[in-house]
Amino acid sequence: MITYDHIMIRFGELSTKGKNKKDFIRTLADNVKNALKDWPELSFDVRYDHIYVGLNNLPYQPVIERLQDVSGIHALSLVYRASKDIEDIKNSALALMKEENAKTFKVKVKRGDKTYPIISDEITRIVASHVLRNTPDLKVDVHNPEVLLSIEVRQEAAYIFTKTVLGAGGYPLGVGGKTMHMLSGGIDSPVAAYLMMKRGVSIECIHFASPPYTQMGVIYKLEDLLKVLNRYQNRIRLHIVPFTKIQEAIYDNAPESYCITLMRRMMFRLADALAKRRRCPVISSGESIGQVASQTLQSMHVINAVTNTPVIRPLATSDKLEIIKISKKIGTYDISIRPYEDCCTIFTPKAPKTMPHQDEVEAFEKKFDYESLIKEALNNIEVKIISPNAQEEDLL
Ligand code: ATP
Ligand code: MG
Repeated sequence: MITYDHIMIRFGELSTKGKNKKDFIRTLADNVKNALKDWPELSFDVRYDHIYVGLNNLPYQPVIERLQDVSGIHALSLVYRASKDIEDIKNSALALMKEENAKTFKVKVKRGDKTYPIISDEITRIVASHVLRNTPDLKVDVHNPEVLLSIEVRQEAAYIFTKTVLGAGGYPLGVGGKTMHMLSGGIDSPVAAYLMMKRGVSIECIHFASPPYTQMGVIYKLEDLLKVLNRYQNRIRLHIVPFTKIQEAIYDNAPESYCITLMRRMMFRLADALAKRRRCPVISSGESIGQVASQTLQSMHVINAVTNTPVIRPLATSDKLEIIKISKKIGTYDISIRPYEDCCTIFTPKAPKTMPHQDEVEAFEKKFDYESLIKEALNNIEVKIISPNAQEEDLL
């Protein structure tokens, strides 16, 4: 019996990236190997157009599922690697088709190796007639075949396959640089982090904690969220910024309705300073237009005025139901809805400003020395590395 022996990984958008392509492929290959490191039996063949994962008799399903989380992969096919001998190609194709038990099929040939002596149409004809002759009841249906039997003749071998699934798309993690991501433990910010990673951007996370108003439970929750996100990024740095003193100073110096605006301006100042320190050219967050008072366009304008660093808001135009759908898909939802207090939820005023004025905000800020409070907070950041290998790393 013949069995599929490789998984063929097809690149997505990076095919269009010209001279950067080599870097992209190298990064993607590293990410693929990292994602599959639980299976040392697998082998890897990295080429200019595809990466091939040799199964060496391992079951393919879990490997494909793991690969579907790796960004930068357009599609995955389960393939049989045959020699380029036309006899081998047609006999392997027949054996694979017999296992399909299909009523209709169509052969599709791609000749990547342009020096191959038989042209695509001729290969199609040879394979299709051989399969038809040896499989009673099977018919060709060019418009709506039950099975599409694909054959790709490349430099090193001929690949035969019938099953292709979509990958995660996007870019390989790391090729897009790094963001300082604001992680709050709600539903939105982990989803926003995932979308950044999917675009090839790796993340460091910043969280503002206000003990004793917020509890350690929040930190455990963040760790659990990041463990889920470890599926996309193996090692995530979480910076926990002590925010209590700043928050108390705000409440002592500004009317309740302005507290959220001031608080968020302080958060962005801190995120900006840390982004610079950690060499992240951008900040990202889970904000979504209009979701709460601090996310009206006018609020965003006043809050964003404290920094020139680009702030990327992947969820800016998504509505909550779409966001929830993604969080369920990636597995962060159940963790996000655990009932722990965030600094924002505790201090939420009854009537926050939806149309804050920048001059008023600045007047309140002048009433206290927030700059030294920010310095102090930055000097007391606690860092955690979240990684499936965390224990190993602690020992190093
Ligand atoms: P989430 O957006 O994660 O569901 P949320 O909706 O309660 O939580 P908001 O309070 O509206 O979020 O804040 C909007 C964004 O600001 C968050 O998505 C997150 O990026 C950032 N943010 C809010 N609170 C914190 C915090 N304590 N630490 C870090 N970032 C925060
Ligand atoms: Mg939100």
